[in-house]
Amino acid sequence: MPEFQLIQTYFSRQPVHRADVDIGIGDDAALVSPAEDMQLAVAADVLNEGVHFPAGTDARAIGHKALAVNLSDMAAMGAEPSWFTLTLSMPGEDKDWLEGFCQGLYELASRYNVQLIGGDTVSGPLSIGIQVCGYVPRGTALMRNGARVGDNVFVTGTLGDAAAGLALHDQKLCMDDSSASLLLNRLEFPEPRVEAGMILRDCATAAIDISDGLVADLGHICEMSGCGATIDAERVPASESFTRFVEAGGDRRLQLSFGDDYELCFTSELDEVELNQRLDDAGCTVTCIGTITGSSGIRLTDHNGKEVGFDETGFEHFGNRTT
Ligand code: ADP
Ligand code: MG
Repeated sequence: MPEFQLIQTYFSRQPVHRADVDIGIGDDAALVSPAEDMQLAVAADVLNEGVHFPAGTDARAIGHKALAVNLSDMAAMGAEPSWFTLTLSMPGEDKDWLEGFCQGLYELASRYNVQLIGGDTVSGPLSIGIQVCGYVPRGTALMRNGARVGDNVFVTGTLGDAAAGLALHDQKLCMDDSSASLLLNRLEFPEPRVEAGMILRDCATAAIDISDGLVADLGHICEMSGCGATIDAERVPASESFTRFVEAGGDRRLQLSFGDDYELCFTSELDEVELNQRLDDAGCTVTCIGTITGSSGIRLTDHNGKEVGFDETGFEHFGNRTT
């Protein structure tokens, strides 16, 4: 199929039509009319086969995840996503693959009312690049540099599921079917915390999405805010399925070192009860896992405040272990 026809078939029929898009797909560039008094948040992320997802991953999951990781960056800024472009490199023209990919992509795009407005389609190794834009009322974006000594440190949802999902995918461990499918689902279909990010504009001092692992990503907040943090490792929230994974021999420390859950880590002066009330509408729970300190670096403790060791290069270190 010629490139033009392929674009017509798969990308021009995208499902979202926004009033602030004057010209979408079809011309040399898209034209948009951003709302006044808003800042545009812009982010891009590429997913390459064999690096960011295993070869053979379901096309629907790839479509979902390629957009989800970008929406997660919007969430971390407190931005409301509006449009995205898609640069797709693929080895050949596989109709079934494209159908599945578009299904996953458009299902998520529709849910967040984010319109595909352009892109490029080329042949090459499988690689999906998305650039996303979103609105944030001027001066209210969540940044990494706002944490202050004494702030509480929170995470949304639970951590570790995606890491467990990958370990199961790699057949490093056996578990019952229902837990395994929940964990695999979190690896393949992460839910960006967009609504939570928007609510947090009024209550967080700094935020980041956890894409590289809790310790590494909280480390970015600390560096940019000029502070440190003490984290109670035992308070890091885990799902029931992750708990089963640990009982089956999985490494609990993956909660600290592996990032693919795309939860948010943020700091706030507010307490856990207050924040859970405010975030109720976003259908998301938050857990206080520690506090911001005046020293530098991240100190991990157990429930009794006793320091526990952790290699700060967590990702590489634990990535090479059995799980
Ligand atoms: P040009 O050669 O001028 O770059 P293309 O033929 O690549 O134009 O693209 C034609 C139109 O289709 C453009 O509006 C472009 O943004 C859009 N487009 C191409 N590939 C994609 C894609 N993968 N997703 C969305 N839009 C695309
Ligand atoms: Mg082109």
